[in-house]
Amino acid sequence: MTTVGVLALQGDFREHHVMLDGLGADVVKVRRLSELDAVDGLVIPGGESTTMDKLMRAFGLRDGLVERIHAGLPVLGSCAGMILLARDLRDGIEGQQTLGGIPMTVRRNAFGRQVDSAEVDLVWELDGSPMHATFIRAPWVEQYDEGVEVLATATGPDGERHPVAVRHGAVIATAFHPEISSDTRVHELLLAQL
Ligand code: GLN
Repeated sequence: MTTVGVLALQGDFREHHVMLDGLGADVVKVRRLSELDAVDGLVIPGGESTTMDKLMRAFGLRDGLVERIHAGLPVLGSCAGMILLARDLRDGIEGQQTLGGIPMTVRRNAFGRQVDSAEVDLVWELDGSPMHATFIRAPWVEQYDEGVEVLATATGPDGERHPVAVRHGAVIATAFHPEISSDTRVHELLLAQL
């Protein structure tokens, strides 16, 4: 049986856990290396990327995470999780590190203060269907390398469209929070990669 881990250091990992449970997955919380070793896929939740970055280092998880992700572990990151999966980061705090996983540059808190939280209707490019998405102090993808697939875009305060869901191999990242909706398509996409 395949097991999905949810990184449970900070943020809304419980919501991801509930959603994956509902999809029939075998779900475990990941807080230590031995737990990471036992999973076939991983979710990095929304929350605060700066805090998660510090906690990963404090819990001695960072190097193991980088290693597993670069070895091809299927991963889904939402919001702060998207930030952590970026190769390069804009508007991070001094010394903030990411794990990498997707060759992209992500701008943190990109939608600006007035869009602290917003509900947006997106088009899910995999099948052209609508997707209702919740954004909370969300990042967007500023630049990405060839091979990164854009799964959804949204209009920023600059009037331009920016990628807000991407996939690179088995690594998926969304700027929004699929875990706080009843729409299971993003989590199903992760489970399909396991
Ligand atoms: N702005 C947060 C960060 O920088 C992310 C917000 C979220 O995950 N909802 O980590």
